[in-house]
Amino acid sequence: MKVYISVDIEGIAGISHWDEALDNGSDYATFRTFMTNEALAAIEGARAGGATRIVLRDAHETGRNMDIARIPDDVTLIRGWSGHPFKMIQHLDDSFAALVMIGWHGAAGNGGNPLAHTMTGRFADITLNGEPMSEFLIHAHLAATCRVPVVFLAGDDAICTQARALNPAMGTVATKTGHGASITGITPARSCRLIADGVAAALQSNLRDHALPQADTYVMDLRFTHPHLAHAKSYYPGARMIADDTLRFEHDDIYEIARALGFM
Ligand SMILES: [Zn+2]
Repeated sequence: MKVYISVDIEGIAGISHWDEALDNGSDYATFRTFMTNEALAAIEGARAGGATRIVLRDAHETGRNMDIARIPDDVTLIRGWSGHPFKMIQHLDDSFAALVMIGWHGAAGNGGNPLAHTMTGRFADITLNGEPMSEFLIHAHLAATCRVPVVFLAGDDAICTQARALNPAMGTVATKTGHGASITGITPARSCRLIADGVAAALQSNLRDHALPQADTYVMDLRFTHPHLAHAKSYYPGARMIADDTLRFEHDDIYEIARALGFM
């Protein structure tokens, strides 16, 4: 069984400030260690759940965060960014049985995590068919085009709630809840224990139960933090302004939605 594990940092246990999340931040070194620990817990759980091949995607900022010296030698690494619209799940294809997300977080505009955003800081909020478009939502739909289900997600409470609403069978570990610029949540050590157990259980569940329904058409509305950004990006083919600060892009293929997002 081939399993893809995609790891971000803003949803890992304990993290609460950009100084801990960005590579020039004063406390980044500590939190990249915690990010690596959660990835290792997911790898341990994947093996216990029956994974025989594991691909590990570093999906935060530079794509070069985790300490790869600590990753088992039979795991395939994906680091950096190619520009491919699959972004945080680059090289996912129909040879994989399942997708696992670790350290994922709430969408732009969500109050459930001081570090909530979608892809970049340029969006005040984004919706997909009227629903807040988190990085989880777009990547879960992209994975579904390869018939690969998201079976497990660890991240902030807001994104766990959105994930379970979409797929009630999904295993989740809620690491924290945001309260303004503060958080309450579990420790990194407890998060790792829950992730290892949760990933194993998710992979042993009936993977067919995790299938995501595909929509006939997708409408993405992007509200930018500044109207001049919306204006500049309105020249992307098919994009149209529906307000001074908001662009709409519609397509029946989620891949084209992801491609457009990549150029925004
Ligand atoms: Zn990130």
